Amino acid sequence: MGTDATTPTPPGPPGPPGAPGGGGRGAVLSDGEAMGLALEEAAAAGGHGDVPVGAVALLGGRVIAARHNERERQGDPTAHAELLTIADAAAVVGSWRLSEVTLVVTLEPCPMCAGGLVACRLGRLVFGAADPKAGACGSLYNLCADPRLNHEVPVTAGVRAAEASRQLSAFFSDRRRVGSGPGRRP
Ligand code: ZN
Repeated sequence: MGTDATTPTPPGPPGPPGAPGGGGRGAVLSDGEAMGLALEEAAAAGGHGDVPVGAVALLGGRVIAARHNERERQGDPTAHAELLTIADAAAVVGSWRLSEVTLVVTLEPCPMCAGGLVACRLGRLVFGAADPKAGACGSLYNLCADPRLNHEVPVTAGVRAAEASRQLSAFFSDRRRVGSGPGRRP
């Protein structure tokens, strides 16, 4: 579980406002709580025909960015939840270097996204379900822990993994049931 939650609260980052000590997006979140928000983001992706993957970025345990997969919506092969979220987080932090940021994502990042996490010198990665077909943070590759690269990202895997897996399975079984959907092919 997140040891971050027990560290003293740093001065609030410039981000979404929240009542001090109160709930909402301004609260200091545990890994599990942050994953809950990532799962909500993922559900929004399913609403526009995108594979439900969601991510949130935390600074000092507080949410500074939250996005979901928009590959279909944008017609952009790089519009994965992780890359959209770190781009938003970098805008909030004011630097491409995200060494104090934790990214929480519902599915194990692919090689492209894992590369992005190394490139932004991410402080820490938390993911839910493993991806045996495309995962690059332990399944097929481990780009987050390759000493040949110039940065290693500490990884916590399997947080609320069953919920993330169920969400993905439900999406794909729905899609099979209704065919490939309007204008979409797997
Ligand atoms: Zn990806």
